[in-house]
Amino acid sequence: MKLPGPFHITRVVESEGAFRAPDFILPDATPQAFSETRTSKDPRFVDIAGHRLIMSFHSLIVRTPRNIILVDTCVGNDKQRPTLPEWHMRNGPYLEDLAKAGYPAESITHVLCTHLHADHVGWNTRLINGRWVPTFPNAKYIMHRTEVEHWQEVQKDPEKVANHRSWNDSVQPILDAKQAVIVAGDYEIEPGVRLMPAPGHSPGNIVLVLDDGKDRAFLVGDTLHHPVQIERPHWSSRFCWDAQMSAETRTKFVSGVADTGAWVIPAHFAPPCAVQIIADKDGFWFKTAP
Ligand SMILES: [Zn+2]
Repeated sequence: MKLPGPFHITRVVESEGAFRAPDFILPDATPQAFSETRTSKDPRFVDIAGHRLIMSFHSLIVRTPRNIILVDTCVGNDKQRPTLPEWHMRNGPYLEDLAKAGYPAESITHVLCTHLHADHVGWNTRLINGRWVPTFPNAKYIMHRTEVEHWQEVQKDPEKVANHRSWNDSVQPILDAKQAVIVAGDYEIEPGVRLMPAPGHSPGNIVLVLDDGKDRAFLVGDTLHHPVQIERPHWSSRFCWDAQMSAETRTKFVSGVADTGAWVIPAHFAPPCAVQIIADKDGFWFKTAP
């Protein structure tokens, strides 16, 4: 599915649907607090009867004048995630769907993980003859130095099960294959395509900024998990590394792009996935393409 807006952005879905209760994902979204939001009445984003957030796990493929950039690689197939049934030993048609969308694995020039959580690195690798190998043979995998160094340190402690141990099957094999390019948080991939640091959800969380001189799009990963956080930018997720910093980063971002016409495309928004943030008398809100 091509997303609205002036840039060539295609969405390939690994899974989508009603996921968890609002206050499971966003601890501040208690039943009372959530019911007071406008988003809580929007059936595109909330399973109202089931009181669950509708979420998507997708990759965004950006076709630029020079490159084909795959942003966030979902959960992946064959990954051992025993504590999370939906993610454990998946066997989905993601790669076939990517090829059907016009992007066979060989065509990807860059893979960009906005951060290194398990649902953003999974398809970095696939299991071939018992070994995890890079899924995208011709791609440079761009990783933010701060993020890599943080998780490298955390995963050294065998007592800590960080990110469902996805480092071992989805990040280390990329480093071993020498396909990783470790960069600063403001790295420019090509003119008009650059990273922007957005720390808080994770230490090295980044946003991909597309700017053609006229229009802008921000692929924000998990800086926003759900549209309700546009209305309530101070609501951080339970998965945020530093909830306070995440709230500050989110609030600054939402107020900064409001009323600019920029497209905001997160990693987990259900269709229509891309929004334009606006400021109105009640605070921040959003519109979607007709
Ligand atoms: Zn995520």
